[in-house]
Amino acid sequence: MNRVYNFSAGPAVLPEEVLREAAEEMMDYKGSGMSVMEMSHRSKVFATIIEEAEADLRELMQIPDNYKVLFLQGGASQQFAMIPMNLMKNKKAAYIVTGQWAKKAFQEAQLYGEAVKVASSEDETFSYIPDCSDLDIPEDADYVYICENNTIYGTKYKALPNTKGHTLVADVSSCFLSEPVDVSQYGIIYGGVQKNIGPAGVVIVIIREDLIGEETLPGTPTMLKYKTHADAASLYNTPPAYGIYICGKVFKWLKKMGGLEVMKQRNEEKAKILYDFLDQSKLFQGTVRKEDRSLMNVPFVTGDKELDEKFVKEATAAGLVNLKGHRTVGGMRASIYNAMPKEGVEKLVAFMKKFEEEN
Ligand SMILES: *Cc1c(COP(=O)(O)O)cnc(C)c1O
Repeated sequence: MNRVYNFSAGPAVLPEEVLREAAEEMMDYKGSGMSVMEMSHRSKVFATIIEEAEADLRELMQIPDNYKVLFLQGGASQQFAMIPMNLMKNKKAAYIVTGQWAKKAFQEAQLYGEAVKVASSEDETFSYIPDCSDLDIPEDADYVYICENNTIYGTKYKALPNTKGHTLVADVSSCFLSEPVDVSQYGIIYGGVQKNIGPAGVVIVIIREDLIGEETLPGTPTMLKYKTHADAASLYNTPPAYGIYICGKVFKWLKKMGGLEVMKQRNEEKAKILYDFLDQSKLFQGTVRKEDRSLMNVPFVTGDKELDEKFVKEATAAGLVNLKGHRTVGGMRASIYNAMPKEGVEKLVAFMKKFEEEN
């Protein structure tokens, strides 16, 4: 077996311990005589899996009792539609556009009502987070939408926007469980799990109960109503059962590691190794305004396309894979999620040093 250091932005690295456990349980999950892939989602065994997953997530994030946790499908992208369909009572919402994912959500919302762009960092290729302390938010906006960590550009909000009393909705796909959050500041926190939690196919939605109503936009499909899934505890139809099982294992791993405060320290430590190197390098440069840097996604460039390609190729040969930047940014991007060990970041920096000396 030859495991590599996988810097993919998503689907991404998972804790080795979790993969080993899943492998051990593949043929016979806890004496059930079958794999979790093969069992009924209505079985007692599966009920325990999904209930424990929810309880562990609630404990990790200290989710207040007046929030529901939903395990859904359709990816983060489906939420781009589900959010306006369920929340746009006044048919108006404010969007802060800080990258491709926020922009897609903003464009999708225009299908359902008036989406107002209240701030953007597109003028400088999304390399910073705009000042959101005093935005011109329409009084009757149903919510304010952000993408909290911008996976492609490597920026992260260090303070939440001043929503002026409006409900905050946040896509946290690429920073989910990377540090503690105050859930009570949000109306909805959601994310696809394939970045920092589990395998593709599950999206977790944490939603304040008063936002789950009978009233949705006319024509909203049953499957796209939060109420449908909240009333059925995520078992209205067959949920992404195996994915939920793996997420549950990652939650237990996070608890064992010491929880989100410890993950934050680890993530800061890992990111510092890489950013400190970038800050003194003569060859490599980070592409993001320093105060807005993400702990999870670190884009960098040499300024020379051919050299970037050479770097990615040689890094791959050295077992440091998926470092190619997003097609819209170019250069490189190292995603250093929870499950990336510190050793992986140290190896990457050592490799970058050597490459700098040689080129
Ligand atoms: C990857 C990503 C998405 C898209 O996720 P899908 O599950 O593929 O729809 C949306 N938002 C953010 C922040 C992402 O990183």
